[in-house]
Amino acid sequence: MTIQQTQQQIQSDGAGPQLIDGFGRHITYVRLSVTDRCDFRCTYCMAEQMSFLPRKELLTLEELDLVASTLIARGVRKLRITGGEPLVRKGVIGLFEKLGRHIDTGMLDELTLTTNGSQLPRHARALYQAGVRRVNISLDTLNADKFAEITRWGTLDQPLDGMKAAQDAGLKVKLNSVAMQGVNDGEMEALVAFAHENGADITFIETMPLGAVDRDRAADFLSLQSVRQQLSQRWTLTDLTETTGGPARYVWCEQTGGKIGFITPMSHNFCATCNRVRLTCTGQLYMCLGHDDRVDLRAAVRSDAPMAALNHALALAMQQKPEKHDFSIDPADPKPALSRHMSVTGG
Ligand code: SAM
Ligand code: SF4
Repeated sequence: MTIQQTQQQIQSDGAGPQLIDGFGRHITYVRLSVTDRCDFRCTYCMAEQMSFLPRKELLTLEELDLVASTLIARGVRKLRITGGEPLVRKGVIGLFEKLGRHIDTGMLDELTLTTNGSQLPRHARALYQAGVRRVNISLDTLNADKFAEITRWGTLDQPLDGMKAAQDAGLKVKLNSVAMQGVNDGEMEALVAFAHENGADITFIETMPLGAVDRDRAADFLSLQSVRQQLSQRWTLTDLTETTGGPARYVWCEQTGGKIGFITPMSHNFCATCNRVRLTCTGQLYMCLGHDDRVDLRAAVRSDAPMAALNHALALAMQQKPEKHDFSIDPADPKPALSRHMSVTGG
């Protein structure tokens, strides 16, 4: 069966059974990594010398669309495209355009992406036209020298120009900042003020031990509990009950009139309400960011009976989704908890 025939079958079959794991959690959110490559080399994410996957290992854009459409037919309501840097994948705008049809039909609530912002001046308008309404842009510092140090290959004007282009195109922006002791810990207030002055929300992320990098992660680790304490000395922060279906917990900042999110996988476990799975650019479906168990959807897509094989693989995935992650940053044991980089599984 060809990919086109399989797509037609998904369309004519309509919605299939919902994805529910062994703990009764409904899987409604997928992060889809479309490339492991990137035009930056952030020190906490990648080693300076990275070897990337050969292109033939990657799912083609057609295959990515097929897998995403299958997941949407099985109840996924929110799709976040990520990477690596998703906007450096050739033809990726065509993929957004195709996936946008699920927004039009009402099968998908949200199509979104996480990006370093470097390619947004080129692509923001096309993304909006494809149905994207929100983007997450990574920004760990407002200091140009520090930005160059953290990203190795990037310059501060890239995310800033990207943010402007996104907002000009009508996209709502949320900034993501990885909080790092001794790197940007003195800038937490400045980042919040900058985000809120510019009409963006901001989420802080604790550094996670994923993949070997050239830094000491235990030394970098900064608990977001202390960041929150620091921020609340200056501003009034009120807990918000809403979630976006992700792991962030939000507070409202009274004086600046904006939201601050905290993603705390290390100091506070959010697994009980986990509704997500992650697909790598090679079609490996990881049920948890903190575990190595996965099912191979590429083999399913490339088999003689893709639909049956995909359904079988998804059933297996639901049985295998673990109750919770178990990574920790141990100063006595500096090796990463998992060997794969965040750029492989997607942030
Ligand atoms: N290139 C895009 C970007 O930087 O936004 C998308 C991919 S990136 C892997 C997604 C997010 O993961 C970014 O916000 C990045 O800061 C974060 N990230 C990468 N490695 C991380 C790590 N080891 N711990 C915590 N966050 C990490
Ligand atoms: Fe690239 Fe994003 Fe990783 Fe930075 S965090 S190296 S921008 S994939």
